[in-house]
Amino acid sequence: MTGTSNDFQFPDVLLRKTSLRCDCNIASCTTFQYSKAFIGGKEFNAGEKLIPGRRCGSVVTATIHGRSMYGLVKKFLRVVCRCLSFHDLVVLTWFPRPTYPDGDPLTVRVDLTGVPDVNTMTNFDIISLLDLEPSRILVELNRHGTDMYMMRMEGIDRM
Ligand SMILES: [Zn+2]
Repeated sequence: MTGTSNDFQFPDVLLRKTSLRCDCNIASCTTFQYSKAFIGGKEFNAGEKLIPGRRCGSVVTATIHGRSMYGLVKKFLRVVCRCLSFHDLVVLTWFPRPTYPDGDPLTVRVDLTGVPDVNTMTNFDIISLLDLEPSRILVELNRHGTDMYMMRMEGIDRM
């Protein structure tokens, strides 16, 4: 990971969702935040706005409970703890679960009903950087702005 780094204080909502493999208490660890991360050689940026029709460097995909999910990265974090191990984490908001109108994993639709603005969602989650798939993703919006179509450059969705 590269980019600016400063101390990061975990909001309570994320602290409750975060546990470290080494069982150190995250509140006593030092956390740095980064603006960029490289995943499988692809560059991703934290905190970029999603503008339909362009590649947004903050859109990522991960397999959660066996199915593909898409989200928007807010922060990349590195937690360095007392046992001297470190943990690379991603703070993100998830888009609604994709649907597959053609019944295959090539056409990936995200229904935005009930989502006023994909850039200001507040369903923050935290996962390991290792859980992100190394795929850049293009996003198209339909004419009415009610659905996003996700086009991944690498890999294939798990339905
Ligand atoms: Zn530790």
